[in-house]
Amino acid sequence: MSENASSTALQSMRVLKDVFGFNSFLHNQEEIVQAILDKQDAFVVMPTGGGKSLCYQLPAHIVDGTCIVISPLISLMKDQVDAAVETGLRASFLNSSLSASMKRQVEAELSAGELDLIYVSPERFAMPEFVETLKRLNLSFVAIDEAHCISEWGHDFRPDYLNLSTIVQDFPDVPVAAFTATATHRVQEDIVTKLALRSPHVVRASFNRPNLFYKVIPKQKPSDQILKFVRNHAGEAGIVYRTTRKSVEQTASMLAKHDVKAIPYHAGLNDATRVKNQDAFNKDEVEVIVATIAFGMGIDKSNVRYVLHGDLPKNMESYYQETGRSGRDGEPAHCLLLFGYGDIPKIRFFFNTITDETEKKHAIKCLNDMVQYATVHACRRKQLLNYFGEEYPPSHLEVGRCELDVGCSDSRPHPVDSVYPIDNSPASVPCCDICEGEVESVDATEDAQILMSAIARTGERFGINHVIAVITGEDSDRIRQLGHDRIKTYGAGKDRDKRHWRLMIDNLLAQGYILQTTGDYPILQLEPRSREVLFDGERVQVLKTRRKGGKRSLRRAGQEAGAYNEELFNQLRDLRKELAVEQGVPPYVIFTDRTLHEMARFFPATEADMIQLTGVGEKRLASYGLQFMAAIALFRESHPAIHPPKCSNYS
Ligand code: ADP
Repeated sequence: MSENASSTALQSMRVLKDVFGFNSFLHNQEEIVQAILDKQDAFVVMPTGGGKSLCYQLPAHIVDGTCIVISPLISLMKDQVDAAVETGLRASFLNSSLSASMKRQVEAELSAGELDLIYVSPERFAMPEFVETLKRLNLSFVAIDEAHCISEWGHDFRPDYLNLSTIVQDFPDVPVAAFTATATHRVQEDIVTKLALRSPHVVRASFNRPNLFYKVIPKQKPSDQILKFVRNHAGEAGIVYRTTRKSVEQTASMLAKHDVKAIPYHAGLNDATRVKNQDAFNKDEVEVIVATIAFGMGIDKSNVRYVLHGDLPKNMESYYQETGRSGRDGEPAHCLLLFGYGDIPKIRFFFNTITDETEKKHAIKCLNDMVQYATVHACRRKQLLNYFGEEYPPSHLEVGRCELDVGCSDSRPHPVDSVYPIDNSPASVPCCDICEGEVESVDATEDAQILMSAIARTGERFGINHVIAVITGEDSDRIRQLGHDRIKTYGAGKDRDKRHWRLMIDNLLAQGYILQTTGDYPILQLEPRSREVLFDGERVQVLKTRRKGGKRSLRRAGQEAGAYNEELFNQLRDLRKELAVEQGVPPYVIFTDRTLHEMARFFPATEADMIQLTGVGEKRLASYGLQFMAAIALFRESHPAIHPPKCSNYS
């Protein structure tokens, strides 16, 4: 390393610790920071929670001049700027929400070179006078957030982003760094071409989110299941996704009726209500937001502790993006999916409206992948990563977190400077219900044969309820009139309840042994595969939840990973909330959950102790250190028996 490079590396480390309060870089961050400091263009794909903002905020603090950050959502800009200012950066934003006098003030600070970072929307670049103003300034570099919005191939194309394609031409000496959490190789090429990036430093990080725990349970009574889960996570912020506006409203009011602070969010609500509800969630005024997929982009909230899907998502991409909104702060978060076969025909019905046959086939294939994710006995994380063409890092296999290997590697040739797995989580955070042994694969051939035989012997002309009535030996006029009380399988399954048979049918449908027709009176029919089970000895395996639950709960695992005092954590969280209300900022902007967990573990008593914690830099220490230390001291006084580990043991 040249002398120059090693001195900038040292400077970066110092700023990382003193300003941001972090002891080390997360994967990929250091080299991205270095590329920007070396005035190279950069293209970065890193998952949500990977730490993209630090990659431009840190060099913006070091380099002379102002960094222009292009951010797509006005609603998000204020929170982003508040967080940067809390960190101790000189940041501001320019958008249509500012009053004329505020706008003049920001422009004055900008012209005087008093800002490290200025956040603007892409629309501004369509205004020639704005571009001319920028030309008169000392710009350090341009950072483009959510860069995939410039590509028509991406899922969030925004025509405003096309305004950015002239940046390189207008500012030939200014480096450009583009960031996104999602970009296929095709979208990557499109972004690099549209922005005309010059031999950019390319980083594609792993999509793995090691602090997220994935779990699927059979959907039985979704309202009860959602309520139970939310109650088990009382005090934590969570998102519950539902498919329709009606189910969103019903679920939100069901939760509210049971004293859970929950509010709805969907496209049917007017703009003002949507903004108000999102803001209430962001500021921890409510615990749960029940939403359709309309809720998502623009969620910077770092302390979302769970995402519960009450219905089946349409594809793995959506599921990954939606679950990815939890655990941005790197602390353990829970992703639960309620899976019921009944959701599949509803989604398929929607696909029937697609006129383009290729598109329709693709949509069906994506749905099948999603169903497979929920029903196959293979590590959920592996399946998700496999979907993105990524192999699950072998190191996980070594520590026994995953027994099954369904991964495949991405062999497509592509110019990438770095691909590193992202794994910043404590090693003991569990992976998924399958790896944790919460679910087992059991032989269900006999039950499958009973069902298949009943479907065949009733002429493949009846629906789910009738087939179940026959095998459980229901005594009804209709069954007698049809003569179904005389077939061989009548009553063959009476020792199990109807719920068992309903789940069994779901399993056979999901695995393609039988099918359910569409229309007003859907009936069950046999697929060719079922004949192999009936006549050729094929065995049927189904997933079953173990009665005693998994090896460890997520909360316990989080505690094992870094035991903290929950009572103190709750008190510190209340203090954070009070301060946030005073400042008019979201609580996570003051300190993240991760920092509070560390406080509730190490009980810092001095500034020297406090500054060692993750996320405590000089500015936050000066702003809030005393208040938090006072709360901790008070707690200690009333709990003399507690002996926390020394902060110096923190690594
Ligand atoms: P992204 O924009 O990629 O979703 P963020 O920039 O919001 O990610 O960062 C995610 C979380 O990681 C934030 O809580 C941030 O404070 C934290 N973080 C970023 N860099 C580091 C680091 N080097 N060490 C510890 N935590 C970090």
